[in-house]
Amino acid sequence: HAKHQGRNTWCTFAPSMLSDAADRLDIRNGLAQALQRDELMLYYQPQIDLATGRLIGVEALIRWQRPGHGLVSPARFIPVAEECGLIVPIGAWVLRTACRQMAQWRAAGAPPMVVAVNLSALQFGRGDLEQDVHAALEQAGLPAGWLELELTESILLQNPEQVLAIVQRLRKLGVSLSVDDFGTGYSSLAYLKQFAVDKLKIDQSFVRAIDAHPDDTAIVRAIVQMAHSLGLKTIAEGVENAAVLELLRKLGCDEVQGYHYARPLPAADTLSFILAAQQGAAPATA
Ligand code: C2E
Ligand code: MG
Ligand code: MG
Ligand code: MG
Repeated sequence: HAKHQGRNTWCTFAPSMLSDAADRLDIRNGLAQALQRDELMLYYQPQIDLATGRLIGVEALIRWQRPGHGLVSPARFIPVAEECGLIVPIGAWVLRTACRQMAQWRAAGAPPMVVAVNLSALQFGRGDLEQDVHAALEQAGLPAGWLELELTESILLQNPEQVLAIVQRLRKLGVSLSVDDFGTGYSSLAYLKQFAVDKLKIDQSFVRAIDAHPDDTAIVRAIVQMAHSLGLKTIAEGVENAAVLELLRKLGCDEVQGYHYARPLPAADTLSFILAAQQGAAPATA
């Protein structure tokens, strides 16, 4: 029956594999020109301090305004950009754009906060991340304390010595560091201590339905306690409603980010949000 199975497998598998490969090739071709054609843009999602309701930062999230395709999600094109190395110039563009944007908001009256930028593993391997970060800050005239870099657990684990050396140089510049999607990887306590990150971003898979899942509550409680005992802050991603928010408050989570407060916003709307939050007009609590 192996032959029969094999044929079945071929028949059901090949078309999707082909279209997947064609899809990726199409994305890769388009992406190669997206930078020069100015088709990439950043949205910004507010981050809120749970105790005070204050806006503490915004996360920069990339979008691709692709002609004929609408707004393409990073979930579709970032993996392709990583595959073909384009993530290095794209990542440098994200750093420059986020820093320039935050410097403009600062000049427009934004109170001290951070702009958080996502980093890919490849930015640690190829290119010169420290130089890209330094140049982005300098060109924008943004103090380093206004920039936060989001790393993933897999970045910390892939080449620990090389990454540790780069992380230490980044810390010297004065930027802060957080671990994104925390809980989905395998970081040990020893790693977190060694890398001296400032914050853990609790992955939204544990947060989204925490009010309905006792296991998720236990996981989040454990992460918050562990983080605090190591002197780290915690931020929960994917907070979609007031029930989740209240539970996170009880668990001692420090900060929140999610649709309950705001979706990722285009730059102009972000400035409105920042200025409204400063005047206390934003919905700071549930
Ligand atoms: P991430 O860094 O974990 O970002 C959080 C994602 O969750 C964002 O998706 C955001 O829109 C979404 N989100 C926020 N709040 C909620 C909520 O309450 N409910 C739900 N269901 N979703 C929420 P987005 O913008 O599609 O980004 C997806 C991923 O793409 C990011 O995950 C990040 O890993 C990657 N990414 C985005 N921008 C960049 C970038 O500039 N560079 C790199 N290397 N990766 C990026
Ligand atoms: Mg992130
Ligand atoms: Mg995340
Ligand atoms: Mg994620």
